[in-house]
Amino acid sequence: MGSESDMQPLGPGSHGAAVADVQAALRSLSLLEPGSDGVYDRATELAVRHFQQVRGLSVDGRVGEETYRALSEARWSLGDRLLHHDPVRPVRGDDVTNLQERLLELGYDAGRADGIFGRETETGLQAFQRDYGLTADGTCGPATLRALRQLGRKVTGGRPQLLRQSASFVESGPHLIGRRIVVDPGHGGADTGFAAGETTEADLVLDLASRIEGRLAAAGATVYLTRGRHQDPAPAERTAFANDARADLFISLHLDAQDSPHARGVASYYYGTGSGTSSTVGERFADLARREVVARTGMLDLGGHPKTWDLLRMTRMPAVRLDVGYLSHPVDRLLLLDARLRGTVASAVLAAVQRLFLPADADPPTGTFVLPQRA
Ligand SMILES: [Zn+2]
Repeated sequence: MGSESDMQPLGPGSHGAAVADVQAALRSLSLLEPGSDGVYDRATELAVRHFQQVRGLSVDGRVGEETYRALSEARWSLGDRLLHHDPVRPVRGDDVTNLQERLLELGYDAGRADGIFGRETETGLQAFQRDYGLTADGTCGPATLRALRQLGRKVTGGRPQLLRQSASFVESGPHLIGRRIVVDPGHGGADTGFAAGETTEADLVLDLASRIEGRLAAAGATVYLTRGRHQDPAPAERTAFANDARADLFISLHLDAQDSPHARGVASYYYGTGSGTSSTVGERFADLARREVVARTGMLDLGGHPKTWDLLRMTRMPAVRLDVGYLSHPVDRLLLLDARLRGTVASAVLAAVQRLFLPADADPPTGTFVLPQRA
């Protein structure tokens, strides 16, 4: 794990203007009572934890870059400011999420409801404006807001944007030839992640990524790795790389560790918020990959979880992070240090990718799918 952030995080014991700023944001969200200005006390920590939980962030009670940005974004409500597409400094905030969700509900393709006003949001907004006789300038101002409010909710319960995402996947057929898949080994370079003696998380996930790369390539896919051994790209660089590659799928790999020697198992994460917005394809792949790994290695199944981490949110394609076991657990560690087991994990990921692209009625039971031999 690890937040991979450069900002000095705020936490219990911190004080000063930055803390007061965080507290003001928490109060504007009614998460914190007035008092203890500028001192990161227990109440502040609890409020931050609460905020992180409802936003699908890692819950650690501290304010690093990601939590700080989420707090700033949460301050905006639809109507507070003009919204438009700025390619240099994209507008971000809960007001943008709200606009995207409204457009999607009305049947306009505004991209994923990720709170970032991008090209797709602009295009969707312009289509809406044209249909409703407004100036199609792609800017969400008072007239557009009025029209959006008057329309009410035409579509209910369909999650149309998610259905659309599923449909485009089914249409693209069962073969891996022509698929572009980005595999993202976590950490790298000076950032080693967790360590087990001489061996580090960074090295193990790179080895795993290379094995997955080989298998996917053999099955016809075009595969890119986000880093080599000596690089540690920032999350924004990793996601930009996948976006530029126009990848169909993004798979990030990490290992876990904990002070408790009992923690063990495999967890998967996909983009999603507590409010029900999530990537259906991401969720399905998170589920397939984790269950294939569990079925083939006997590791403990820790389930799939929606998260709003930048890595999952900034990617324009279904993105999944797989945490393949605990280096701090004696059995998980022995397994992970075994090259054959890492080969098994790579085969499991390949099977999951194959199953993702297969039509549902042809989907074989977990742990049984074997690649057809290529001629
Ligand atoms: Zn990690």
